[in-house]
Amino acid sequence: MKIFFTPGPSQLYPTVKKHLADALKTDLLSMSHRSNEFFDMYAGLEQSLRDVLHIPKTHSIFFVNSATEAMDITIRNCVEKKSLHIVNGAFGRRFFQSAQEVRKQAEIFETDLQAIVPLSEIKIPKKSELICLTETDTSVGMSIPLEEIYDLKKRNPGKLIAVDTVASMPYVDLDYSLLDSVFFSVQKGFGLPAGLAVMIVSPDALEKAKYLQQKGYDVGTHHGFIPMKTFADKRQTLETPNVLALYVLGKVAKDMQKVGIKKLRRATLEKAKKLYCLIERSDAFSPVISQKKYQSSTVVVAKFKKDVAEELRQWQEKTGLIIGKGYGEKKDTQIRIANFFAHQVSDVEKLVNMLCRV
Ligand SMILES: *Cc1c(COP(=O)(O)O)cnc(C)c1O
Repeated sequence: MKIFFTPGPSQLYPTVKKHLADALKTDLLSMSHRSNEFFDMYAGLEQSLRDVLHIPKTHSIFFVNSATEAMDITIRNCVEKKSLHIVNGAFGRRFFQSAQEVRKQAEIFETDLQAIVPLSEIKIPKKSELICLTETDTSVGMSIPLEEIYDLKKRNPGKLIAVDTVASMPYVDLDYSLLDSVFFSVQKGFGLPAGLAVMIVSPDALEKAKYLQQKGYDVGTHHGFIPMKTFADKRQTLETPNVLALYVLGKVAKDMQKVGIKKLRRATLEKAKKLYCLIERSDAFSPVISQKKYQSSTVVVAKFKKDVAEELRQWQEKTGLIIGKGYGEKKDTQIRIANFFAHQVSDVEKLVNMLCRV
């Protein structure tokens, strides 16, 4: 079987197949989402997520269908007029576009990837209500150091902060008390099938949603913060959810907790070092992000120093180690390598060996 180092969908976490099979042995998939069995499953899932990610009780957890949907929901529920978007790549740009599409006055700051400036040097307009960040932008492999994000919140306590963590969760260890809307879909770092996303929302963001709803703004229909909160408090979702995906997420979160989240994070960092070490020494590749403190540990992106596309294709076919192409127009000149919990050290070593020969 192939091993997928593609940055989403990606390699499944090793226990996913067993949990999928186990789910079929239960009655859960035929039972009502208003049954006690569902409530118990939901409660277990929520607790497992809180345990493994250290999500405080103050923050609500909502389940939606994709990270792109979470962007839309975040904008509608946190912005009356103005949002600010710090854009490092394609996903930050998508967030910005969502704000434009719902007719907010969206402002954009585009990072120069060759000379990245810290967030502290970006001028934040007084009237921005929400600052939108992509903690790791999967298109370019750039991560914003968490201290910069926390510092931004501390300097702007009255503004809400939204963080897209699709490419780094559950590797990234967040202080949620300084964040208002954190979201991720599960087909990347969690190693699950696509079609489910998680939102972690602060009391301030809920307050804002309530205010906007009362003022008659369109905060969405079933997936507004307030209706989602009402149902989440009852260990339910408003609609009939993807029960299978919720079940598997709860189980995988528990598995990760059992192995030890710290251990998994440490291993990921070690694997990242191997990958960057290779890329920095290679004749064929160089890192797209050259400033070390902004290099992502979970999505390593490299550009070609010479045209090795065909050679790479052949190696992948031969070894079954599948890496991601560059994003969008970079598809033939860059590679992207996912380094998630599902990727075993031994497989990363095999991949490094393969890339060494290119
Ligand atoms: C993949 C990705 C998304 C989009 O996720 P969907 O679940 O497909 O909506 C958003 N942000 C980042 C950083 C991503 O990597």
